[in-house]
Amino acid sequence: MSSEHSPLSPEETGRIGSALHEVRERIAAAAQAAGRSAEAVTLVAVSKFHPQEAVIAALDAGQRVFGENRVQEAAAKFPPLRERWPDLRLHLIGGLQTNKAAEAVRIADMIESLDRPSLSDAIAKAAEKAGRVPDLLIEVNTGDEAQKAGVCRAEADGFIRDCRARFGAALKGLMCIPPADGNPAPHFSYLRTLADRHGLPVCSMGMSADYPAAIMAGADYVRVGTAIFGQRS
Ligand SMILES: *Cc1c(COP(=O)(O)O)cnc(C)c1O
Repeated sequence: MSSEHSPLSPEETGRIGSALHEVRERIAAAAQAAGRSAEAVTLVAVSKFHPQEAVIAALDAGQRVFGENRVQEAAAKFPPLRERWPDLRLHLIGGLQTNKAAEAVRIADMIESLDRPSLSDAIAKAAEKAGRVPDLLIEVNTGDEAQKAGVCRAEADGFIRDCRARFGAALKGLMCIPPADGNPAPHFSYLRTLADRHGLPVCSMGMSADYPAAIMAGADYVRVGTAIFGQRS
């Protein structure tokens, strides 16, 4: 894999372009099968661990929405690209430490991983200081897995209500990462139902291995990394 600053080979650039095309086709097919329009599904291209040049190749292929896990990495890669691509959107999708909230609020258009009251406090404080609130999704630990981020099922309703009261319309919806083994479909359905019950428009669910199933279950955003950019080192 190329290092941070070496340009991509034409082959690699072409590969990202055709992978994106293929993912977009599969999104359209899944949306159609679900009786939904392809435009209703937003592809979040997850570029973590891939160099800025890979992001540029995707931008050149028409992709505009990107996901990153780590604030530091996102801060190095994305702000310099905004001048040339002003409609670029950066989503932070990884577990967020409270001491990174200020920088996250500064650089992100959306934070998808709001998952606990202490982070809600930190984001609110940073947003007040910065004079801007990014869009927010609450991450739900739909499998109630001990090692995983996200608010557990039993606390989801209360946390959603608290965040709604605090952030108002900036709270757009919910995000989940189902357990790695097993059928993700029930987790997707659970998230959709929970979002609908709270009148939240956005469900972010589905990754490279399962985004068509997520679209069938009503995903609005799918977060796809490997299928676009290849394996992460
Ligand atoms: C890495 C990551 C993805 C993308 O996973 P792929 O399997 O590479 O598509 C999606 N969502 C989150 C939260 C991630 O951390």
